[in-house]
Amino acid sequence: MHIDVLTLFPEMISGYLGQSMMKRAVEKGAVSFGWVNPRDFATDVHRTTDDRVYGGGPGMVMKPEPLFAAIESVRSETSRVIYLSPQGPPFTQAKAEALSTSDHLILVCGHYEGIDERVIEALVDEEISIGDYVLTNGAIAAAVIIDATVRLIPGVLGGDGAAEADSFSSGMLDHPQYTRPEEFRGMKVPDVLLSGNHAAIETWRKQRATEKTRRVRPDLLDG
Ligand code: SAM
Repeated sequence: MHIDVLTLFPEMISGYLGQSMMKRAVEKGAVSFGWVNPRDFATDVHRTTDDRVYGGGPGMVMKPEPLFAAIESVRSETSRVIYLSPQGPPFTQAKAEALSTSDHLILVCGHYEGIDERVIEALVDEEISIGDYVLTNGAIAAAVIIDATVRLIPGVLGGDGAAEADSFSSGMLDHPQYTRPEEFRGMKVPDVLLSGNHAAIETWRKQRATEKTRRVRPDLLDG
């Protein structure tokens, strides 16, 4: 998969994508990242990428010309153009799974009051929100979507079923996790996890996952 991130602030996200699991995904050849800065496509002497809002109102809007040129510089037949926006449907694990089979994603990060609507109408395949709140900029939202999507590409997590056991993949939240030491500050790892009885461990995990899901996210069980 190739992912182009279209942003005025590549350094906000390139550091994140250059570390840990995303770095390993690149090294394994599962994904590659590209950066497209609309400012490089602005043609005036000040390299202007924003302007005032038609109809009046506060703030500035990202201009269509640099955005069209920037998107068209990387778009091909197999590209999926996604605009990160609080107005899109909320991002989910199921959406990450669907995106993880894409060939080429172009993630458009807005700034200011957002982007000129004509870009959305003409070039954007879908809008995605990472939640019901408003960020200053789409770069963090792009990092969220990339991380959740890339870790699902086969081979990235090492093929030990780690992603399948995660919260949401099974329609529930994950079960509690413990590691050594067996006892810490008087708090003990549950006996069943030390028993070696795999059937009992499975039953305990399912029980605890169901309890927590019922308490914290009953909506997951209703669906
Ligand atoms: N005026 C816009 C509105 O109310 O819908 C908000 C613009 S916001 C200040 C600037 C940019 O941050 C947006 O263009 C978008 O790319 C990004 N952004 C903000 N909140 C987001 C969210 N919840 N999910 C995804 N992107 C978001």
